[in-house]
Amino acid sequence: MEKKDIRALSKEDLRLFFEQNGDKAFRGNQVYEWLWNKGVHSFDQMTNISKEMRERLNKHFVINHIKVDTMQKSTDGTIKNAVKLHDGFFVESVLIPTETRVTACVSSQVGCSLDCKFCATARLKRMRNLNPDEIFDQVLTIDAQSRLFFGKPLRNVVFMGMGEPLMNYNNLLKAIEKIINSDSLAITPKRITVSTSGIPKMIRKMADDQVKFKLAVSLHSAIAEVRTKIMPFNEHFPLEELRQSLQYWYNKTKSRITYEYVVWKGVNDQKKDVEALIQFCKFAPSKVNLIEYNPIDEGLFQQADYSALTMYQTMLKNAGITVTIRHSRGKDIDAACGQLANKI
Ligand code: SAH
Repeated sequence: MEKKDIRALSKEDLRLFFEQNGDKAFRGNQVYEWLWNKGVHSFDQMTNISKEMRERLNKHFVINHIKVDTMQKSTDGTIKNAVKLHDGFFVESVLIPTETRVTACVSSQVGCSLDCKFCATARLKRMRNLNPDEIFDQVLTIDAQSRLFFGKPLRNVVFMGMGEPLMNYNNLLKAIEKIINSDSLAITPKRITVSTSGIPKMIRKMADDQVKFKLAVSLHSAIAEVRTKIMPFNEHFPLEELRQSLQYWYNKTKSRITYEYVVWKGVNDQKKDVEALIQFCKFAPSKVNLIEYNPIDEGLFQQADYSALTMYQTMLKNAGITVTIRHSRGKDIDAACGQLANKI
């Protein structure tokens, strides 16, 4: 008999297991706590469960868990974990420290099915979705590292690692539920950001589900032809549909939308590009994060001149849109945006 992954079971499933095996249902709650709040890796550590029941659990289930295969530290304090999954696949997750807080940047898929031309992860292709426990474990690991190396718990989580979170929506939601609820993490939804390349149908679904976390959209251009060139899937998810889904999201959640945006030389560094961006996002309170480009190849793309960034900054500000220029962290260890590609 092949053993099942016990963390695929809900609390209710676990309660039922105990009942059906002649024990008290509340033992299921205890096991759930061991798994999700205390993060144990073996049934033997579940000391309030009888030896007989532990053996029975062991017979039926495994506790899959991730392993940090390599941990690299950047000169700026950023830590990148190459994480090995139970079936041998790898993903990466990053701890980003600032003076005031620590943020975890985690992966949602092994590789990615989208085809953004400027992103290293896109070249890996999508191998599989991560399970809720594999997403949760990345966060738990970074929380432990944060306490160990920085003396404080993890405060923020961003789904900006490998993969497209909205293409693994059900598992994403299950993982976020644990991140919010588990005693060990208890991170509030407002400090969790899900970043998407822009899947209109899923943005509407999130709005309908009344999720409480924040939404970030990797826009990079509000001009259809330009966006299709750098993010070819844009052809199947037209900008206008994306905008309408974001409007739907805002109407339902009243939650400000963040746009991630890289300005490249000769791609989107003209006045008309900024005008299109303003036109695109002015329907709701928005924030534009101008991200520094992290080169991933031989000069196919180049970061725009500083003057282009200041043009964006001034024009956006004048239009009443919040704008920040974000410098990359962890570039020396390939841990920055778009550099996650299992290179080690
Ligand atoms: N698929 C989701 C989650 C990945 S987030 C999304 O696209 O939002 C990774 C972020 O880094 C995205 O905003 C992406 O557009 C950006 N990015 C990708 N490659 C990059 C690069 N080489 N330099 C800077 N940012 C990059």
